[in-house]
Amino acid sequence: MQQLIVATRNRSKTREIQQILGPKFELRDLTAYPGISEIVENGNSFEENAKLKAIAVSKELSGLIIADDSGLEVAALGGAPGTYSARYAGNKATDKENVDRLLEKLARIGAQRDQRRARFRCVLALARNGQMLGTFEGIVEGTIVDQPRGSRGFGYDPIFVPNGFEETFGELPAELKNRISHRAQAIHALAAKLTALKPSD
Ligand code: IMP
Repeated sequence: MQQLIVATRNRSKTREIQQILGPKFELRDLTAYPGISEIVENGNSFEENAKLKAIAVSKELSGLIIADDSGLEVAALGGAPGTYSARYAGNKATDKENVDRLLEKLARIGAQRDQRRARFRCVLALARNGQMLGTFEGIVEGTIVDQPRGSRGFGYDPIFVPNGFEETFGELPAELKNRISHRAQAIHALAAKLTALKPSD
């Protein structure tokens, strides 16, 4: 079994990655290492943030380290909230506050349906001993709806309808989201790399 450390203190994120990677991989996260320094996510892109988290942790812990960064990009808002997705309505904003802020902004500019195009993006970075081994990206395209629908998932799920569906990620079953999501795609790309990885790589 291949052991990996996820550079997060968010247990739900670790669980979601473990579910998608399957039993060939044994994941731990930073909740097992309380001494690790807090990482400042001050990069300008998902890729930069994922890399800086993976590199920082791989300098403090041995073994394979994975870090992820993700968020929502809305066409009519020039790609916002992007790397600010978790704190769009302020540093300690709740999911609902972030969703309300986004809907208000779209209403204010009178965004019509074609301008409501959006995508979730996820970048995973893999590092060991302070060296990057690769980055892996997943994207799911969709549309932002006027009113939140459904209580599944988290974050912007209740206002995001993936292309090819009528329901939001808040309404669709978790198994379906975990098959098509940006995170699932990035994790599958990572898994292919991990399987091919030799100890000397
Ligand atoms: P982070 O990757 O933990 O920094 O979180 C990024 C933020 O993007 C989350 O707090 C959510 O607001 C948003 N986000 C990322 N992935 C998803 C998703 O799958 N559904 C809904 N919101 C998401």
